[in-house]
Amino acid sequence: MTKNTPISIEFFPPQTNEGAEKLRSARAKLAELQPEFFSVTFGAGGSTQDRTFETVFEIQQEGHEAAPHLSCIGSTRSNIRLILERYRKAGIHRIVALRGDLPSGVVDPGELRYANELVAFIREETGDQFHIEVAAYPEYHPQARSPEADLLAFQRKVEAGANSAITQYFYNLDAYLHFRDACAALGVHVPIVPGIMPIVSFSKLARFSDACGAEIPRWMRRKLESFGDDTDSIRAFGLEVVTRLCEQLIAAGAPGLHFYSMNQAGPTTEIVRRLGLG
Ligand code: FAD
Repeated sequence: MTKNTPISIEFFPPQTNEGAEKLRSARAKLAELQPEFFSVTFGAGGSTQDRTFETVFEIQQEGHEAAPHLSCIGSTRSNIRLILERYRKAGIHRIVALRGDLPSGVVDPGELRYANELVAFIREETGDQFHIEVAAYPEYHPQARSPEADLLAFQRKVEAGANSAITQYFYNLDAYLHFRDACAALGVHVPIVPGIMPIVSFSKLARFSDACGAEIPRWMRRKLESFGDDTDSIRAFGLEVVTRLCEQLIAAGAPGLHFYSMNQAGPTTEIVRRLGLG
């Protein structure tokens, strides 16, 4: 196993002052792992977006590289232009460019309908100012017409100017390897960094996985269900399974690991330490 595998860590913007304080303390611990960057998710709605900006700028002021996520659905070119300008002025160098999802009840998709259009717009507006990451789906995006169509949509994002990709989380190693090989066969050679979701609660994980189309393999689901409310056993099993997945990914040449920290330091730190990366 190489100790050179870079890691990155994702946060969501806290909605309360207490959440912001907790995140500061989690971030201080996670910074010890020397991640390449901390990314911050971006949601629909004004106040949520303000919290993304606040979190991004705070991370940057602490001296870490901050990578804001930016989604285009429901937005306008002029609004996105303003956000890009704000990030450019602040010296941000990396953006995770996404389509996003329309909040329920909202029907207007906005001016940019898919992430490849956002990537093209960022390049048109800002040239090479930003390293652009896009999303990839080894188990395919839930709305994709077909696996083939999803792969081609991914290719379009890269052709529009994305430098690298971060995947939706998955627990099936073969799905990642197959997706990576399919991209290579299409001539798409950007780094595809696996997204890693530590397991801390079965009910939360099951909810997320249903929503985003990430499969919890049957054997894992059965084991996790069998632990009931025994959170210690859930955590111990989760650490074992996810660390093993990361080991296999590194052995298979994954270019990095991106951790969905859920704003908690413990699980990510433990996995990274077990891997000997931190
Ligand atoms: P796209 O790449 O545009 O794809 C969306 C769907 O449209 C796919 O099914 C694709 O096959 C299809 N498609 C693409 N082009 C076309 C076309 N021309 N015609 C027909 N179909 C097409 N969401 C947030 O709201 N905020 C975040 O911060 C956030 N961060 C994320 C980070 C990562 C690493 C990942 C993996 C996901 C994240 N998401 C986030 C979720 C993401 O926004 C959703 O999965 C969303 O539904 C799709 O976004 P995308 O950028 O992958 O879209």
